[in-house]
Amino acid sequence: MQRTIVVVGTGGTIAGVAARAEDHVGYEAAALAPEALAAAVPALAALPLRCESLARLDSSDMDHATWCLLRRRLAALLRRPQVRGVVVTHGTDTLEETAYFLHRTLRASKPVVLTAAMRPATALSADGPQNLLDAVTVAGTDGARGVVVAFGGRLWCGADLRKLHGYRLDAFGGGDGGPLGVLEDGRLRLFRAWPKATLHPAAARPWPDAARWPAVDIVTSHAGARGAVVDALVGAGAAGIVIAGTGNGSVHAELLGAARRAEAAGVRVRRASRCPLGGVVGAPPGALPSCGALTPPQARIELLLDLLHERGALRRRRTS
Ligand code: ASP
Repeated sequence: MQRTIVVVGTGGTIAGVAARAEDHVGYEAAALAPEALAAAVPALAALPLRCESLARLDSSDMDHATWCLLRRRLAALLRRPQVRGVVVTHGTDTLEETAYFLHRTLRASKPVVLTAAMRPATALSADGPQNLLDAVTVAGTDGARGVVVAFGGRLWCGADLRKLHGYRLDAFGGGDGGPLGVLEDGRLRLFRAWPKATLHPAAARPWPDAARWPAVDIVTSHAGARGAVVDALVGAGAAGIVIAGTGNGSVHAELLGAARRAEAAGVRVRRASRCPLGGVVGAPPGALPSCGALTPPQARIELLLDLLHERGALRRRRTS
């Protein structure tokens, strides 16, 4: 049996259309269906590929309901014996968040390869077609598994990805760990073992509807930071707050005071670092809980999953 690779479209610049070929910025994202993206890559025509559209979003508007839909759809596809792997086309803006969310919540014993593009499909030298071809190559590689990202000729672990540049074609990095591999002329050269699933315990239980998920927000610490921002979030019903601290996760005294008030009100507060590399090392006595190596968006997802898990456990205790 020849097994299929399924391309699931969610939108993004990879599916974007501009009025002029030299326009890389003023385009409509998510305009094209995944079938059109695949049709632009002649090498894909010979492969057993199936395309489907899950969403048509500019990923800067990504939401929890779409994440739930995507996770459910991917789980169903991966269960099918005839599916070899799945490719997800996505926007670059929140690619790292979707990758991290899936890495922590989806049992991916087959490859789930996310990809995207910095230039719209109509650009003179669009990067989407090569990225899509590379993603399909990875999805069809023997032994491939886990949530990974094929972008700009490199393969990244979904758990490590971060967007580092807002315009350049090599927009992504993998943190201190670097890339998992490189794609060279249609071949994957792997540097390390495929990522192992480290599922969050919340992944084992059903979740409430996304509209009822706890609100978790990110606040950045900076010169002249105001505690009133944290107070306002608590007033608006935040259940968790991640502070993107300066340097090694240090937090402005004004924010720290407000964070202590938030904690006293039952809100969970953690600190990450706003530096793109390194995270937070160590935990001085009395400091807010650290998120370690996680970036602030990853730490937000982790806190969200912790809260979902704890609330689920509480509900189960109440009903048993
Ligand atoms: N705003 C776009 C998106 O994230 C950017 C991109 O895809 O490059 O959907």
